[in-house]
Amino acid sequence: MKRLISEFVDLFYPRLCIICQRALMTNERHLCLHCLQQMPRTNYHTKADNPIEQLFWGKVEIESAYSYFFFLPEGNFRHFIHAIKYGGETDAARYMGARYAAELQAAGKFSDIDYIVPVPLHPKRLRQRGYNQSEKIACGISVILQKPVRTDILYRKYATETQTHKSVYERWKNMQGIFDTKNTDIPLYPHFLLVDDVITTGATLIACAQQLLQRYKTARISIVTLAVAP
Ligand SMILES: [Zn+2]
Repeated sequence: MKRLISEFVDLFYPRLCIICQRALMTNERHLCLHCLQQMPRTNYHTKADNPIEQLFWGKVEIESAYSYFFFLPEGNFRHFIHAIKYGGETDAARYMGARYAAELQAAGKFSDIDYIVPVPLHPKRLRQRGYNQSEKIACGISVILQKPVRTDILYRKYATETQTHKSVYERWKNMQGIFDTKNTDIPLYPHFLLVDDVITTGATLIACAQQLLQRYKTARISIVTLAVAP
């Protein structure tokens, strides 16, 4: 009966694939099977010293870091990131976070994570947008890993302007002192999983990791993002 109703609803209000805009089948969620299969996956969790981890070398100590797919300027998958960032597709963000976490978990990754920490938005930006897309991704990961999302540990002190047209050095300089941490009930030797939507130079995540390590000196940090921009 439930299936019949959802097929009926789909007929009149078709749910569309975020990427190709085709009507979804009843059993598809947010993306059609075709687009899911075409996803430009990195498969970095199968490689030692993968390029995401290398972004942090010599800057901050990271246990492991993975990104689900490539954010290619000519690829359709950038529509997905745009939709979760600006288009209010929060369920899709959770769904993708959960999918990736399930794949990573099946590969034996992140078995000892204690807390999931999304990269925070500045409160002003959060009010404008209504949600933090990284927090939604983190919520999906949390369902699979069965570990709490903590938004009370790390916060953003300053809103940053768009970094798109800045050089790597300028981005890096610009991120210094942007984030800070709060003193919480975290016990010794925590393993934090930092979550962001897209990683580009790594400057944002480096700044977050440095702040966490300054406050929680015995912490270990891992990183996961949905996409990586080359
Ligand atoms: Zn599609």
